[in-house]
Amino acid sequence: MKSGNRILVTGAGGFIGHHLVKALKDEGHWVRGVDIKHSEFATSPADEFEIRDLRLWNEALEATRHISYVYNLAADMGGIGYISSNFADITRNNVLTNTHLLEGARTNGVQRFLFASSACVYPRYRQANSDVTPLREEDALPADPEPGYGWEKLFSEQLCSYYLHDYAFATRIVRFHNVYGPLGTYDGGKEKAPAAICRKVALASDGGSIEVWGDGAQTRSFLYIADCVEGLLRLMASDYPEPLNLGTEEIVSVEQLVDLVSEVAGKKLFKHYERSKPQGVRGRNSDNSQLRAVLGWEPATSLRSGIAITYSWIEAELRKAGRLPAHRESAAAL
Ligand code: NAD
Repeated sequence: MKSGNRILVTGAGGFIGHHLVKALKDEGHWVRGVDIKHSEFATSPADEFEIRDLRLWNEALEATRHISYVYNLAADMGGIGYISSNFADITRNNVLTNTHLLEGARTNGVQRFLFASSACVYPRYRQANSDVTPLREEDALPADPEPGYGWEKLFSEQLCSYYLHDYAFATRIVRFHNVYGPLGTYDGGKEKAPAAICRKVALASDGGSIEVWGDGAQTRSFLYIADCVEGLLRLMASDYPEPLNLGTEEIVSVEQLVDLVSEVAGKKLFKHYERSKPQGVRGRNSDNSQLRAVLGWEPATSLRSGIAITYSWIEAELRKAGRLPAHRESAAAL
């Protein structure tokens, strides 16, 4: 996309939104960031940053004024603990946000609108085993998504497709698979597995133990933030209106992920499995065939190098917060 466009990023005070704003600024665009809060970790490089509650129609309408492209990343979301205990709040909040933002964008003559969906739209009946068959975009139907969060994403995907059909309003739909990296929430209940594991490993003493949710055999693939942002820019610039996976095909079990983080930290740790905690679907992996075909590209960062950077950032944050001694040298193998 040529530089100098007027772009709105919603959820700009969040993890992916913050990184995306930075990338868009680096490409020479004018960027408005909108969120209900500022980032806890960094000042936004956006030209304008507005605090707005996008569940409200007037706020969504105002947020989309004088804008050509919208990246809609705002959502009430969190890790498996959060999304499995807040079905009503998440569904209501996100339906309101996505519905109002889409209509606000159309009313204001926005040229193109990208919606951040999720691998949580995929049916649970296809994810019952650890050695799961990678998920292709057409596998989303017949529907049996993650309750609450996944159902809402599937509905909003459909709504985007209806806007395209009925109004010729150009929409793009991306399905993220477990994005991780620096500036992602790592504590407080909304954190995802990679960040939670990095935090637990950083806080544990060498030879000590950490709690792991589930039995450790559940599998996932993880996408590093730099690849996520690159994929977003490429999809927005493309002419592809159907939902598209954005993930890696490097599947690991949670046990392997914990071992990798421990290795990066240079610690030997005992894993205490907490089977009563939510673990989500048993196995999930992305099939990137369509991603390669549409974008001529796919994520390249290995889990090892992405985790090394993420671990190092979380460890440094814990030091800043006084939860780890300030003086010790970082053990992370960068
Ligand atoms: P995040 O929680 O860090 O960012 C989302 C932001 O949306 C937050 O800063 C939040 O304050 C904001 N927000 C929530 N409700 C709002 C409202 N009513 N008005 C204005 N802002 C509001 O999450 P993220 O990881 O950056 O995710 C970005 C998008 O990608 C979300 O739509 C999420 O559902 C989707 N997604 C993320 C992942 C992942 O692994 N991170 C996976 C699948 C899908």
